[in-house]
Amino acid sequence: MKKIVVIGAGAAGILAALQAAKKDDNKVILMERNDRIGRKLMITGKGRCNITNVADLPTFIKNIPGNGKFLYSAFRNFFNDDVISFFEKIGVATKVERGGRVFPQSDRAVEVVDTLCKCLYDAKVELQLNTKAMKIITADHKVTGVKTAVGQITSADVVILAAGGSSYPATGSDGNGVHLASVLGHTIEELHPALVPLETDLDWVKNLQGLSLRNVRVSVFTEGKKSAEMFGEMMFTHFGVTGPIILSLSRAIAISLSKRQKVFLTINLKPALTPEQLDARLQRDFKKYAHKQMKNAMIDLLPHRLIPIILDLAYINGEKPADQLSKKERYKLVATLRNLSVDITKSRPLAEAIVTCGGVNVKEIDPKTMQSKLIDGLYFAGEVVDVDGYTGGFNLQAAFSMGYTAGKNASDC
Ligand SMILES: Cc1cc2nc3c(=O)[nH]c(=O)nc-3n(C[C@H](O)[C@H](O)[C@H](O)COP(=O)(O)OP(=O)(O)OC[C@H]3O[C@@H](n4cnc5c(N)ncnc54)[C@H](O)[C@@H]3O)c2cc1C
Repeated sequence: MKKIVVIGAGAAGILAALQAAKKDDNKVILMERNDRIGRKLMITGKGRCNITNVADLPTFIKNIPGNGKFLYSAFRNFFNDDVISFFEKIGVATKVERGGRVFPQSDRAVEVVDTLCKCLYDAKVELQLNTKAMKIITADHKVTGVKTAVGQITSADVVILAAGGSSYPATGSDGNGVHLASVLGHTIEELHPALVPLETDLDWVKNLQGLSLRNVRVSVFTEGKKSAEMFGEMMFTHFGVTGPIILSLSRAIAISLSKRQKVFLTINLKPALTPEQLDARLQRDFKKYAHKQMKNAMIDLLPHRLIPIILDLAYINGEKPADQLSKKERYKLVATLRNLSVDITKSRPLAEAIVTCGGVNVKEIDPKTMQSKLIDGLYFAGEVVDVDGYTGGFNLQAAFSMGYTAGKNASDC
């Protein structure tokens, strides 16, 4: 009989435990510090749980900027179609939405968690709730057990560390997992927030709180050089900017800011138009609204709240009649509409990030098995590993695939 201890009952740990329990001979203990499993799973996808994405493998890897290539083997073992059929088999019907995102048909993350809980019970996994792992015990570079806050598990053959990252610590994943790995000699890549809103000191940004912009292009400038750009949707908040493209760009920005590099964004409000086309468009609008004041002559072009701010930034008097705007002023307006500049002072903290960038160095983990290259019998799975992806179901798929791979190999070894 093999004794397998899994630390952390999140997406990765649950899949690892279920897979390890497939062999009747194995005794599988799933240890969770909370009084219930899957706290973070419950809040994923705004309570709807975006379990995976139907994208193909190359697209998946592109959507995991944090060591996506490390996951090739794990994805080959258990990919999105496997996740979908796994959930269908256990009774969670799924549906595909915009951008290939897969959700439970019920739109309820709680259905996912409850069903997984029942699976653990049926698979005879011993679930130890309210049990926090304090130390992984080793002898001669081999795991032998786990010391917990309430006792000790001895004679363990395998320990799978799936204690999550460092974001949303109230869910139980507060970064202690990387500490458990680091005391065993594993290198920890510095933790940064990823998929996180960004802050600015600019008052005009804060005044636009709640305003969403669609079809804009945001470019990132790091130390004065363009480092990235993205097209899509963003939003202003009381502290700065957020929304899908900002979250996706935030990972690299947070890393740059941690190195004290200067970062600013430029927002192109009309990226589909060349400067000449935009100028022609302005001329048409100002002819149409020739006798209106400038503040009322841009209503076809921009959201209401943005107009006085754009005029201000372009040094144009809002009271000026549209037909009196000089060519120079119009050119300045074109430049402002295409280059709205926002200095970024910092990102929101790691605790508010959707995912953690950094964690256990992937070079010290065998990607085929998820086993530690330093300690026999130690496996890793999920966000505790230095892997992070964009929104769209990529992070949960990564956690499921790593969990499956660790559980299967721990069981087979
Ligand atoms: C608000 C939000 C929404 C998200 N939405 C999505 C989404 O829709 N789709 C998507 O793909 N990704 C989403 N993510 C990311 C995704 O939830 C995570 O990447 C994923 O849950 C990581 O799984 P995990 O099993 O590695 O860690 P976790 O789910 O964090 O699980 C780790 C578990 O380990 C437990 N634990 C920690 N330390 C110990 C210890 N010492 N002893 C015992 N137990 C311990 C924790 O309590 C926790 O239950 C979202 C994240 C957030 C914060």
